[in-house]
Amino acid sequence: MTEAKTDLYGLTLDELRLLLARAGLNTVHAARIWNRLYLGLAADMDGLDGVPERVLRHLRAHARLGILPVAAHAESSDGFTRKHLLGLGDGERIETVLMRFTGRVTACISSQAGCAMGCVFCATGQMGYRRQLSAAEIVSQVVHVARELARGPEPCRLRNVVFMGMGEPLHNYDAVMRAADILRDPSGMSLSAARITVSTVGVVPGIRRMADERSPVHLAVSLHAATQDERAALVPAARKWPLDELMDACRHFCRTLERRIFFEWTLIEGRNDSELHARQVGRLIEGLPAQVNLIPLNPTAGFGGSPTRGEAAKRFQRVLAEEFGLPSTVRQRRGIDIAAGCGQLADPSPRSGS
Ligand code: SAH
Ligand code: SF4
Repeated sequence: MTEAKTDLYGLTLDELRLLLARAGLNTVHAARIWNRLYLGLAADMDGLDGVPERVLRHLRAHARLGILPVAAHAESSDGFTRKHLLGLGDGERIETVLMRFTGRVTACISSQAGCAMGCVFCATGQMGYRRQLSAAEIVSQVVHVARELARGPEPCRLRNVVFMGMGEPLHNYDAVMRAADILRDPSGMSLSAARITVSTVGVVPGIRRMADERSPVHLAVSLHAATQDERAALVPAARKWPLDELMDACRHFCRTLERRIFFEWTLIEGRNDSELHARQVGRLIEGLPAQVNLIPLNPTAGFGGSPTRGEAAKRFQRVLAEEFGLPSTVRQRRGIDIAAGCGQLADPSPRSGS
């Protein structure tokens, strides 16, 4: 049996040192390798320049650099959004999106191939669950986007990462948090925890675990409805983790970490966008240090609803602000023409069975 090679993107700096030590190599070289991986953004082992040949020989024989090949990419007509379809080793494919806003660039990263949660308005949910991503596959997406930015016409550094691509990050907790740790390493990508956001459909044990482990990354919770029945109709996972348990977990998170929480609310015309709905969500989260992110529904093949139009969204915001003192934003629509918006990511040609 051939030995499975270790993917360098899945290792922390300490584990990289250990890998060298176990091979009888000087651990001092780990810093150089780390530098070439995350500051040099090496595109292959040849990019690990300055690393002694005998160390490279060992790495080539026992490790690999899990670069994810680009199966396709698309750029939105306004030039602000770029979507990549990346291939995984076993033929699965995931999407990763780079979004440019004024003054910042954000990578929207996938945590799973597909998703098991089945939210009715989400293309990833509609395609079903394929598999978990490894920490290396998550880190590799970020490095891919960072490399593209660094080598583009206006080079800049990636500073913001949101786990809002394909999949439910708290259903793949360990890999997601390990990837976040690797990306935060101050001698590597050096992403600030405050600029990493994990968005969850409401996996209660995961939210509690983040609080209890004092996770440094930010949390966004997809609410979409403020009563159990309305929520369960949009988000089947609400049957497993009911709204009252979810809100308890959110309070626990804010209290334990003394940190703000983001609530996401996909605005569907005539369904969850009235002033009454705004009052319901206001009452539900009143007292929490919270911000509401409103996301006008993006079209997907399997769901017929329409997005809430401008005036109704503004009314919703006014109720939150004036009656509950709750700040809110309407998420800028980005990349809808290339199906790169929230909830639009999927493998465009999912294979059946296999
Ligand atoms: N699984 C995580 C993160 C990925 S989805 C989660 O559900 O939170 C990122 C956000 O997009 C979530 O708030 C999700 O509810 C929302 N979303 C899904 N489908 C959408 C659609 N068609 N239009 C607008 N937002 C959508
Ligand atoms: Fe999964 Fe999030 Fe899509 Fe729901 S909205 S199906 S949890 S990716």
